Amino acid sequence: MLRIHTLASGSSGNCALIEAGVGLDRVVLCLDSGIAQRTARGFAEAAGLSMTSVDAVLLTHRHSDHSANIVSTASRAGAPLYAHSESLSTNKRTSWAEITRRKVEVRHFDDRGFFKIGPLVVTPIKLPHDAEPTFGFVFETDTAKAGFFTDFGRPEILMEPGLLDGMETLVLESNHDVDMLAKGPYPYALRQRVGGDLGHLSNEQTFEILASSAPKTLKRLVLAHLSLKNNTKEIALESAQRALTQRGLSEVNLQIAPARGFLASDAVQA
Ligand SMILES: [Zn+2]
Ligand SMILES: [Zn+2]
Repeated sequence: MLRIHTLASGSSGNCALIEAGVGLDRVVLCLDSGIAQRTARGFAEAAGLSMTSVDAVLLTHRHSDHSANIVSTASRAGAPLYAHSESLSTNKRTSWAEITRRKVEVRHFDDRGFFKIGPLVVTPIKLPHDAEPTFGFVFETDTAKAGFFTDFGRPEILMEPGLLDGMETLVLESNHDVDMLAKGPYPYALRQRVGGDLGHLSNEQTFEILASSAPKTLKRLVLAHLSLKNNTKEIALESAQRALTQRGLSEVNLQIAPARGFLASDAVQA
């Protein structure tokens, strides 16, 4: 069993829970913690899970919409924090003093260096983003495979042959519509940042990934980290659906990770 529950997604905060294995082997991981802990706890409970009993906490990158509460979340759960060393200590809340004070055990990972948490094999994949380094993750059990990729500005990395093969679930950024960003409310510098090579994926770039590389095994696609100002759910869904259809995958269950509130990918059960 491998299930991804998104609890929050987007520039106002990110948090997801990854549930894997059954019985005594079962583990739950928290991926990023950028929303208030009380809110996260409520969403986790709605999903039938508990933030304070997660077995591990993972950090994608240092941006505060992902890292703000990562140390306190690991501390409260008494769980190890898996992170790249350069993603920590970039602000007070992730400082080594705070990590020590809260008695959090840090385990470092690096690009493509897989590690195991119970029955789950986790492989970090480095992504081009303006918080160096930033990672997406491949999650695998004996019977299922999923991917989680947000916060990157160029699509090529996910078009690498074989990277997505075998996945039943994919959580993938579809941040903005290029026209809406160009005509939208953001100041010039921020538009350049978001739309740049180290920013966020546009719907068009997400389309490129899906149309060229969506695996034939795919059952569920969750579009994530949508901009509330420079995108609409309708445009993002229409674009991804067109890509899936072009790829011969029109039956894939397509959803959007809400900015707040839980969404469970329960299609991946084995
Ligand atoms: Zn982000
Ligand atoms: Zn980011």
